Amino acid sequence: MRIAEIMPQPRQVALSEEETVLVDRSWFVAEQPDPTGVGARFTDAFGIGTGGGSNRIALVRDPSLAEEEYALEIAPDQITVRAARRAGFLHALATIQQVRDGPVLPLGTVRDRPRLPLRGLQLMVEKIYQLDEEAIVSLIRSAARYKLNALLIEFGDRFPFEGEHRVVASPSALTRPQLRRIVNEARDLGLEIIPLVQCMGHLEYLLQYDEYADIREEKQVRAQLCPSNPRSLEVWTGLAEQILDLVGPCERMHIGGDETRQLGTCPRCAERVAEAGKGRLYADHVNRVCEWVAERDISPIVWDDILCAHPETMDHLHEAAQIMYWDYWTTQDPSPLLVARFAGSVCYDERWDGEWAGELPEVTRRTLDRFARPIRMDEDLTEEYLAIYGEYLGGQFPKYVRAFPYLEYYLARGRTVYGAPTCSGNHSSWHTLPDIPRHGENIKTFADRCIEADAAGLITTAWYNRSPDLLHFGIAATAQFTW
Ligand SMILES: [Zn+2]
Repeated sequence: MRIAEIMPQPRQVALSEEETVLVDRSWFVAEQPDPTGVGARFTDAFGIGTGGGSNRIALVRDPSLAEEEYALEIAPDQITVRAARRAGFLHALATIQQVRDGPVLPLGTVRDRPRLPLRGLQLMVEKIYQLDEEAIVSLIRSAARYKLNALLIEFGDRFPFEGEHRVVASPSALTRPQLRRIVNEARDLGLEIIPLVQCMGHLEYLLQYDEYADIREEKQVRAQLCPSNPRSLEVWTGLAEQILDLVGPCERMHIGGDETRQLGTCPRCAERVAEAGKGRLYADHVNRVCEWVAERDISPIVWDDILCAHPETMDHLHEAAQIMYWDYWTTQDPSPLLVARFAGSVCYDERWDGEWAGELPEVTRRTLDRFARPIRMDEDLTEEYLAIYGEYLGGQFPKYVRAFPYLEYYLARGRTVYGAPTCSGNHSSWHTLPDIPRHGENIKTFADRCIEADAAGLITTAWYNRSPDLLHFGIAATAQFTW
């Protein structure tokens, strides 16, 4: 039989194209030992029972294997699946589903495990309005089929808030039974749910209501709550509590914290900025949020852009805070493009428009032209920037920098770090479709660097209001490049 290309590609595959086995009704799934509750998934997959046949699918727990590792052996009268934990058995079944031709399987072996511990997709339920229950479940199933293990989910006003915050719930909010089904489906398929609740900026969905006028940082944009107002934390914890109650036990929770462009606008915050700086104002609030999350034995995750723009925050950041590092522009390693947040821009050396022109792949060239600013990298980046970040930029600076240079910077400061590329972010298109070449290279380059740096994982983001069907590309690319 022709062996299908297994995605994500396993570490070791030795499957025969000539010799096969027919899994018919003479087969059964050996119930013992099945300590992980996955036996039913195997019986359902093949339409067979759990006893009485002559040939068996044996699920064997093997504690010597790694967290998500599995070993699959397909012999003429027995299929053996070994794994230490439930995730490994589910991954093995996902592989079997890809190589089977109906009831026929190739003989041979597969030995497999991922290269990054956390691998996932972000779902922006607030912005992507087509994301209804069925679309979300479909994405969850697709993610599980390709062995992803996390879902970062931001509900915004599509969470059915109750009680004092009921005004926030949009008329198109998902219902509690719908959300329970989504959460249960994800967990059952081995996906960790990481809820995201913005703790400072991007809170238009909340601050547009007069009930929250007192905690707005300013009155025009209405995107950011005032970190100096004690009711801000009270409101945030009220919202977060409702979400955690519904989602159930979580290992990690994302508290947002990106693009807080109005930091220090109100008189009270301005005073704090004058005495201690924007970074400190930011960190003080983020730390109070982290404290609340950490008290619940949940690890708080924060976006990295403000930390990177205000490096002094790193010395004050709550010890439990983990960092999610986002960059949607970098498409190769080494990279001509540098996200110099501290120096205020996405930039590249101007010689790429002159003496070095023509040396870059088309996708990188297009990204420079569309999003980045030409500067003299060795002259225009400030001395202060280079004093902090210079050592992470690699040996080919200023022509190239090491892709995603802040990975090592955050890791050197003892932080747990996740990479965050995008499969739908920063407007550019490819023959009117989303910019799949840029997103693909961005996801691949970030995954390769996270693996190289030994980061904790990678979550691919999706921001724009586009068809959820397009997100399946992000799932496939994330799965393939992080495995
Ligand atoms: Zn304020």
